[in-house]
Amino acid sequence: ATPMSIIAGVGRAAEYGVLVRDADALQRASELDTLVFDKTGTLTEGKPQVVAVKTYGDINEAQALRLAAALEQGSSHPLAHAIIEKAGETQLPQISAFRTLRGLGVSGEAEDHALLLGNQALLNEQQIATTEIDPELEAQASKGATPVLLAVDGKVAALFAIRDPLRADSVAALERLHREGYRLVMLTGDNPITARAIAKEAGIDEVIAGVLPDGKAEAIKKLQAEGRKVAMVGDGINDAPALAQAEVGIAMGGGSDVAIETAAITLMRHSLVGVADALAISKATLRNMK
Ligand code: ADP
Ligand code: MG
Repeated sequence: ATPMSIIAGVGRAAEYGVLVRDADALQRASELDTLVFDKTGTLTEGKPQVVAVKTYGDINEAQALRLAAALEQGSSHPLAHAIIEKAGETQLPQISAFRTLRGLGVSGEAEDHALLLGNQALLNEQQIATTEIDPELEAQASKGATPVLLAVDGKVAALFAIRDPLRADSVAALERLHREGYRLVMLTGDNPITARAIAKEAGIDEVIAGVLPDGKAEAIKKLQAEGRKVAMVGDGINDAPALAQAEVGIAMGGGSDVAIETAAITLMRHSLVGVADALAISKATLRNMK
């Protein structure tokens, strides 16, 4: 075991667009058995689009979009961009009492109406019944779309189905990792039905869904408590605690600065192919040392 060959391994990784923080990180990367992936922006393109709008009660599609887009102007979530884009360049109402409810959605008031926009957990938390729209929720989610609900004055007014497709090269990279014997896990704040539909497309073994931002590191700890050697792959600010908790944190290129600062390995490109390359190089390097 010579430090020289580790340094060579770090150099070799760099040629593949994989930046390894130190020799120790390469060693830990060679010992992993479980890879956990953030969904939005890591497995998927991170550019969600509204694919369907359903309205309930006496609101029409344009009115629902206008209210939802007005609220989302205060949010930087990828889902917010999708709704604003779908609404187009209309005059949006002024929002007061705006709030972000992390991992759930947003709320505020406009034109004397109380507005709530987010997932089913958010509406249920506010005692707003969603039973009427359950079939539609399930239908959209099982197609892999994320249902975002708009409530106006305590009643469900609209459902926006938002789709964020897998990155073109995700499936092949995941297949390669599977062949190499890793257990593949998806970790997401999205709802379980949507998450499972996308995991199936991607060839992911296990889904941990409905996780609030603060719960991501806790989920990694639980896997570690089962004796697994875990890498976390993510791109967002809210992935940073999980990246730090994992044996190896892997940040996607072009992701948030916080993710990159926290990660032991950073990919120069925003592609999962880099994960497969990084792990192959770590194994080859450590094998040469024995
Ligand atoms: P992830 O990054 O894993 O997608 P988040 O914790 O960011 O998860 O969000 C979890 C869920 O909360 C989203 O899938 C969505 O249903 C809801 N949500 C969060 N922020 C918003 C928002 N600005 N607008 C609508 N829904 C939101
Ligand atoms: Mg993400």
